[in-house]
Amino acid sequence: DKKISISQLKEVAQEAYEQVKGNTGGKNADYIPYLANIDKNLFGISICLMNGQTINIGDTDYRFGIESVSKVHTAILILRQYGAQKVLDMIGADATGLPFNSIIAILLENDHPSTPLVNAGAISACSMVEPVGNSDKKWEAIVQNITDLCGSAPQLIDELYKSETATNFNNRSIAWLLKNYNRIYDNPDMALDLYTRQCSLGITAGQLAIAAGTIANSGVNPVTKKEVFEASLAPKITSMISTVGFYEHSGDWMYTAGIPAKSGVGGGVMSVLPGVFGAAAFAPPLDEAGNSVKSQLAIKYIMNKLGLGVFNGD
Ligand code: GLU
Repeated sequence: DKKISISQLKEVAQEAYEQVKGNTGGKNADYIPYLANIDKNLFGISICLMNGQTINIGDTDYRFGIESVSKVHTAILILRQYGAQKVLDMIGADATGLPFNSIIAILLENDHPSTPLVNAGAISACSMVEPVGNSDKKWEAIVQNITDLCGSAPQLIDELYKSETATNFNNRSIAWLLKNYNRIYDNPDMALDLYTRQCSLGITAGQLAIAAGTIANSGVNPVTKKEVFEASLAPKITSMISTVGFYEHSGDWMYTAGIPAKSGVGGGVMSVLPGVFGAAAFAPPLDEAGNSVKSQLAIKYIMNKLGLGVFNGD
């Protein structure tokens, strides 16, 4: 039984913070100035338990770009709107073993974008969001879903959105290649814009921990107690996170940390230990695959210290 007391968890999280905070490895994402210029010393760890208690250490109120972590939220939205089987048929749920922005991911899987948790599948997911054809209403649905998962609203970082839009040539190609294979279920430019906008939402580690806690708690937000999605969808989203959350390092991550987690190039990571807790960490410097160095170390420290990995026997 994976039971743990808040005091034990607090102690281990504090230890993780102290151990990792001086680490100088990695560098900020540098494809746009906004991400390159974020203070590289920011670092926070947040945990949300199933009873709604939370632990926040360091910079857990700082709003950073959610980036790829938003793929999880929107995957949940289309699971809610379409159900597990249709998401599997229309996008897929396979590991890609490829970088987040891979265009090849579309071609390898018989023209499927593989999973909503890489760019191709995430753009496809944005095209599926209902109501199809209405960009404003789709955006509202995306933001409302994130708000429900986090228990509070994200905020668009306008400068980030503008920079992402001005430089997203690769994603534009992905959107139109998907269109070619009938894997875009709405206007491709609209889907791409929604994807770019959702990546540019500002979020805090505290909010991401609660969203992760909602997944760990089978769809009920542990803090607000609102049922955000049906319990049967929780293992679907967790399995997707575990197969592809760290892109081409997803296998290494599961092997060393034992917890399904999703990273973003803004430096955020959110991780889900089903039935136990949701944990998030944030620190801008990234490794070569685009995963936050300190966030990974902190979550790994906590998991290994507690011996609570999903593959552990008890
Ligand atoms: N906006 C980025 C992109 O789509 C997100 C990348 C990421 O966080 O992995 O290229």
